[in-house]
Amino acid sequence: MTREWVALGTVLVLVGSNLFGLIYSMLVLKTNIFKAFRIQSKSYQDAIFRKRMPLFLFNFIILLFVAGAGSYLIYDSIDTSLTSLWIIGLQVLFAFVVDDAWFYFFHRWLHENKFMLRHIHSIHHRATTPFPLEYLYAHPLEWMLGMIGVGIGFALILIVMPINVYALWAFGLLRNLHEIHIHSDLQLPFFSNVPFLSKTKHHDDHHSKLEGNYASTFNWMDRIFKTTFKK
Ligand SMILES: [Zn+2]
Ligand SMILES: [Zn+2]
Repeated sequence: MTREWVALGTVLVLVGSNLFGLIYSMLVLKTNIFKAFRIQSKSYQDAIFRKRMPLFLFNFIILLFVAGAGSYLIYDSIDTSLTSLWIIGLQVLFAFVVDDAWFYFFHRWLHENKFMLRHIHSIHHRATTPFPLEYLYAHPLEWMLGMIGVGIGFALILIVMPINVYALWAFGLLRNLHEIHIHSDLQLPFFSNVPFLSKTKHHDDHHSKLEGNYASTFNWMDRIFKTTFKK
């Protein structure tokens, strides 16, 4: 697999998962098929998708550029073989654990630093009743700093072994799908039963109450540091 294919594959994973996010958002906003699973009863603002669109697109382009160019540049450190599924699975899990820890402290700081909360993080919190693609709705500075955890996770893997390209793609796909889902305001039966995974309710409460539940992927960081939102 050439350098160009690695970068193209990364871009396609991100385009595909965000296309899914777009369809999911339309179904949540424009139809009633998921209504029974909604967490909040509040209705969405008129023309909300159109209002969000410019920043969605801007952050999506940043994401494509950083991830596409990043995977192109680190090509020499990437293993493109279909190595053991154990190695791929462990790399994905490790990257998620590191990324989630980064996101926890970064996100908590965005709330505890009143300047950052008022001028940067308040943009993401315009969504009090989120819909799937609102995971993309954040100040571009927050959006870019939020990606650092992914870089740290894969840099740490690189100390021990090459980064597997399938682990990189699987991580990108699952991270995006999970982010899309936790902003859906929906409690779907299957996802509500996966242990340790942060459920939609976890992040939805963060959006509606503006306190606690700072982690994104797993729920253990909030448990360890006692920041789980309590009613
Ligand atoms: Zn927040
Ligand atoms: Zn959010």
